[in-house]
Amino acid sequence: MFKQSLFIKSAANKSGWINDDIPEVCFVGRSNVGKSSFINTLANNKKLAKVANTPGKTRLLNFFDINKSSFRLVDAPGYGYAKISNDMKIEFEIMMEDYLTTRNNLKLVCMLVDLRHKPTNDDIQMYNFLKANDIPVLIIGTKLDKLKKNEYVKNEKMIKETLQFNPSDIFVKVSNLDKINIKDSYDALISLLEV
Ligand code: GDP
Repeated sequence: MFKQSLFIKSAANKSGWINDDIPEVCFVGRSNVGKSSFINTLANNKKLAKVANTPGKTRLLNFFDINKSSFRLVDAPGYGYAKISNDMKIEFEIMMEDYLTTRNNLKLVCMLVDLRHKPTNDDIQMYNFLKANDIPVLIIGTKLDKLKKNEYVKNEKMIKETLQFNPSDIFVKVSNLDKINIKDSYDALISLLEV
C-alpha cells in the first residue's frame, strides 16, 4: 500500500503537466469500473480520488504524488460514459493520445476492467493502443467479490480472449470492497514501475 499520497493538480492539456523526471503510472478504465475505489484502497484514503472527478464534465488528468515523490499516479477520466457529447469524447481522445504517446515520465499504465463483464470496444481499443505503442500495462480486474470462483475463472478467460491479452502482461483480480489482492496488485505495480 502507498506509504504517502497527495493530490497535486489537475491538467486539461500538456501545458499543465509537471516538468521533472519523476516516473508516472497512469490509471485508465471505463466509468464505474472501480478506479477511484482502487486508488483510494491503495492509498488507504477514502477521499483521495474523486477530488476533481465529476463524471461527464471536465476531462482532466489528475496528478498525485506517491511515497514522497517516489512516483506519481495519474488518474485519467473514465471512458465510455454514455451521456457525454461527441465533442467531449474527441477532446478526451486527443488528451489521452497526447499523454500516452508523448509523456516521457510515463512508465506504466494500470488498466482496470470489471470482472463481471465482457470488455467493451473502448477497453479493446485502449489495450490495443497500449500494446501498439509498447507501453507496459498492468491489468486489474475489479469486483471479484461479486463472483463465485467458477464464474471469475470463466470470466478471466473470456476477458483475456476478448482483449487478446498478451501472456507476458500481469492480470490481478481484486476486490476493493473486501480488500482482496490489493497487496499483490501494489507489488506488481511497484515491480513494473521499477521504483
Ligand atoms: P470509477 O467510476 O471507476 O471511479 O468507479 P468507483 O470507484 O466510483 O466505483 C463505482 C461503483 O462500484 C461504486 O458504487 C463502488 O462502491 C463500486 N465498487 C468499486 N469497486 C468495487 C469492488 O471491488 N467490489 C464491489 N462489490 N463494488 C465495487
